[in-house]
Amino acid sequence: EQSNAALLARREAAVARGVASAAPVFADHAENAELWDVEGKRYIDFAGGIAVLNTGHRHPAVIAAAKAQEDKFTHTSFQVVPYESYVALAEKLNSLAPGDHAKKSLLVTTGAEAVENAVKIARAATGRPGVIAFTGGYHGRTLLTLGMTGKISPYKKDVGPFPSDIFRAPFPSVRDGISVEDALTGLQNLFLTDAQPDRIAAIIIEPVLGEGGYTPVPFEMMRALREICDQHGILLISDEIQAGFGRTGTWFAIEHSGVVPDLITVAKSMAGGYPIAGVIGRADVMDAMAPGGLGGTYGGNPVACAAALAAIEAIESEGLLARSLALGAHFRTRFAEIGARVAPYRMWDIRGLGAMLAVEFVTDFDTATPDAALVKSICAHALKRGLILLGCGMHGNALRIMVPLTASDEIINEGLAIFEAALADALA
Ligand code: PMP
Repeated sequence: EQSNAALLARREAAVARGVASAAPVFADHAENAELWDVEGKRYIDFAGGIAVLNTGHRHPAVIAAAKAQEDKFTHTSFQVVPYESYVALAEKLNSLAPGDHAKKSLLVTTGAEAVENAVKIARAATGRPGVIAFTGGYHGRTLLTLGMTGKISPYKKDVGPFPSDIFRAPFPSVRDGISVEDALTGLQNLFLTDAQPDRIAAIIIEPVLGEGGYTPVPFEMMRALREICDQHGILLISDEIQAGFGRTGTWFAIEHSGVVPDLITVAKSMAGGYPIAGVIGRADVMDAMAPGGLGGTYGGNPVACAAALAAIEAIESEGLLARSLALGAHFRTRFAEIGARVAPYRMWDIRGLGAMLAVEFVTDFDTATPDAALVKSICAHALKRGLILLGCGMHGNALRIMVPLTASDEIINEGLAIFEAALADALA
């Protein structure tokens, strides 16, 4: 019999302090949108392992595909002996990505690696060094991607210097009074002050800010970015690592705006719980680097490829894109009701796209002061009552919904009832 307390003590002694865990309990097993800890306590999982589980924990088809692959081989390195599933997954990604142009894909293991490679490819294709990212953007924890990530604490704190030729433009923000027009003016000013446009390889943006607070990029902003990129020969990279694979109700969140990016980075829910990531893009751009320039020992692991093909198939056959839109509408309605009932003037904003939704909490509506302490308290109370919740946002005062799209209505509503009770606890 293991106890959470005993495991926590061992964790504290053995694991680096910099790796934080949101929940002070240890996982034993999980199924779809439910998880049980080592003491047998059951939780509803609204965090989905940080947006990895749009098809739920252990989707039967994903597990079956992975197990079947494990019975054949688990690793050759695609760079030594290739295998069909890598090619099949690249074909599938190419067909799903927006745009009529020819596409090619690269597979790697983590989201940060996908972003790193997208930048390398963009540099090789354009012969330019610069990258423009946005305030509040999150692109990973490696040094290049940290340089692009637009939030200091806790990610960038004390670990600089960061690579050069990374520039930051303002993300439109109601909270900060930055309109789309202001954001675009900021970008144009950046071109005048620091970022020589013909030395910029790429503009990278999350179509819905993930860690930064689940704020969608206004469609007119995305369209303007496309125009600006075309005008200066800059590549547009859509970082869909958190927003992709049905989270927002489309395969890729940028599709809502109608804008076609040059490169797309993917990971997380692409493979329903297995570590795999990728870059999808214009064939001519993707082919810029010479053979041997891309890859990595584990990139496109065969078990993860099999899992990804099954997860994508499940999103298609189970209608999870439509499910995301329906869930999004349901969450919006319920959040508004719950806010009015138990937290008047504390729920400042309900925002997102499809089922990629967040609610932002403030101390009061007059000052709209971010209330990160309240979010922390809601998460702690929710966990006690059996619901796993995760915050997000520049000020840590938003709660985000990453529940599996395969969750039943009963589980969703049970989770929402726990959320309401936890919110009441936190305000008591
Ligand atoms: N980009 C985005 C938009 C992300 O949400 C994340 C992970 N939260 C990353 C990149 C980095 O992915 P990974 O943690 O797999 O390196």
